[in-house]
Amino acid sequence: MSDNEFDNLNTFFKGKIVPVPDSKVSAMPPALHYGTAVFEGIRGNWNEEKGVISIFRLREHYERLLRGCKLLMLDIPYSLDELCDITIELVKKNKHRSDIYIRPLAYKSAEVVANLKLQDLAADFTLITVPFGNYLGSDTLKCCTSSWRRVDDNMIPARLKIAGTYVNSILAKTEATLAGFDEAILLNQAGHVSEGSGENIFVYSEGTLATSSLHDDVLPGITRDTIIDLAEEELGIPVVQRTIDRSELYLADEVFLTGTAAHLTPVIELDRRPIGSGASGALSKKLQQLYFEIVVGNNPKYNHWCTSVTPED
Ligand code: PMP
Repeated sequence: MSDNEFDNLNTFFKGKIVPVPDSKVSAMPPALHYGTAVFEGIRGNWNEEKGVISIFRLREHYERLLRGCKLLMLDIPYSLDELCDITIELVKKNKHRSDIYIRPLAYKSAEVVANLKLQDLAADFTLITVPFGNYLGSDTLKCCTSSWRRVDDNMIPARLKIAGTYVNSILAKTEATLAGFDEAILLNQAGHVSEGSGENIFVYSEGTLATSSLHDDVLPGITRDTIIDLAEEELGIPVVQRTIDRSELYLADEVFLTGTAAHLTPVIELDRRPIGSGASGALSKKLQQLYFEIVVGNNPKYNHWCTSVTPED
């Protein structure tokens, strides 16, 4: 009997779509030992009325993956178009009829031991799609300022989704949740606000919306980019990308986190202090509503961001 809830799904592995139980790696790949891999987190949102999965900003996710491949010298044998096509095919084949999470991974797959170079090491690409619901487990968040600092660009660049970097996020998330908080906010080496363990951060104060500068060790989030567009285009609220001080968060009218997994989720408390009124703010709610309509493919103006996939029967 199967002991893995995903065993009945397929995965893209070593160039083919195969059942999940057949996607096995050896003990050798450097990615397993050193985290030399880049990944993506993409959402497919089930649109019940249309009977399709709406994959949000598929190309942009693969553009970011390919930037990571460049930095880590991961020479994978697929173009941007091919990566998108493989994803659409796997989503169809897995016959999902619910919200899903799509997890591509490009990794150093060479069969070698104790080799700390990136050059000349073979790489491969694999892809999983699984049913996925609420990631953060709550509609509003109580956060803490992490005692762990965000990795600096001269250590491991935070602007790419490098697998090994996630030890930094995992230490912060673990500390936060063990202490009874929902999520951690990390400061960078200079002590400025960087981001959540898996989310970007926005601060709304006196009519101005700000998000951490891309030079403060953050991942250039695709949801971040989406929310900047929506705030400016749809609500006429300019968004400033700048360095944010920790104390600004305690004094803000609203703070929210954004991410593919997290969507847009308001932070209502930081370090046991209420933010604003201590409940979801009006701007967060408006942006959330706009965002949800778009990601399921129900706003024609933004359908260019959505790839509709009809699951196989
Ligand atoms: N920061 C970190 C560290 C993340 O892991 C994520 C999730 N990918 C984000 C921000 C948000 O990025 P995106 O909106 O592209 O999911």
